[in-house]
Amino acid sequence: MNKAKHSLSFHGKVVIVTGGTRGIGKAIVDLYLSLGAKVIITGRSESTIIEPAQKNPTYFTLDCSDQKSVVRFVDFISKMSRLDVLVNNAGINKINSIADIAIEDFDNIYAVNLKSPFLLCQAAASVMKKSGGKILNIASIWSKVTRAGRISYISSKSGLAGMTRGLATDLAPFNILVNTLSPGFVGTDLTYASLTEKEISQLCENIPLGRLAKPEEIASHVIFLTSDMNTYLTGRNIVVDGGFTNV
Ligand code: NAD
Repeated sequence: MNKAKHSLSFHGKVVIVTGGTRGIGKAIVDLYLSLGAKVIITGRSESTIIEPAQKNPTYFTLDCSDQKSVVRFVDFISKMSRLDVLVNNAGINKINSIADIAIEDFDNIYAVNLKSPFLLCQAAASVMKKSGGKILNIASIWSKVTRAGRISYISSKSGLAGMTRGLATDLAPFNILVNTLSPGFVGTDLTYASLTEKEISQLCENIPLGRLAKPEEIASHVIFLTSDMNTYLTGRNIVVDGGFTNV
């Protein structure tokens, strides 16, 4: 086995991470940068955050709920001369009961969590077909198990996992490996802002590892799955949840 090839180094590799400005996406971007990747991140803000010294990461404005914005980014991807990794991380959730789900909210969740990842996968695959690549779609434990009030999110993330299986099969002949990663409860700023300390400690009582995941602990699995070390795992939905869905 060629040791140099099977490593976690991303030197010379080009990686796209959607929603890379905060939370899990930012932890993923930071880890790719530390491993030498050239990273393109997307965020919704029009303001540019390209670092002048090295222009890495490169910032691209993308609103996944806006068809024109998605088409612009699809166009950008299609014209790339090289793309090694696409991570579809951007995602939204809205918790409400079935009677309260507005069609606009349902459509919006599907646009961001399912349709936009599909269009980006399609564009990425057209570039990766030349020399192979890795695609990783971030879903959620709610693509595996269920809880009240999450129908739009659960169905969109389950769709994303199903789409991943289909893509993995269609793209296997081109050595493009496609997987889903499904985090459990992650301690992002947003999680801490939306739950009280008491709610978090109650939640942790139901997680065998007894705590939330750190965003970096999700990022490390993204790195392995999209690195040269992963040569045979494709079409899978990898759950990273501290054991939550086992109990
Ligand atoms: P977050 O809200 O902090 O970040 C989500 C990212 O998506 C942000 O960068 C945001 O700008 C981007 N985004 C949101 N709407 C967008 C739109 N319309 N167009 C383009 N980008 C948009 O959330 P996070 O917790 O870091 O979540 C990242 C991913 O992980 C999401 O797909 C989420 O569903 C999934 N996830 C999170 C958790 C958790 O506990 N935090 C658990 C399971 C799965």
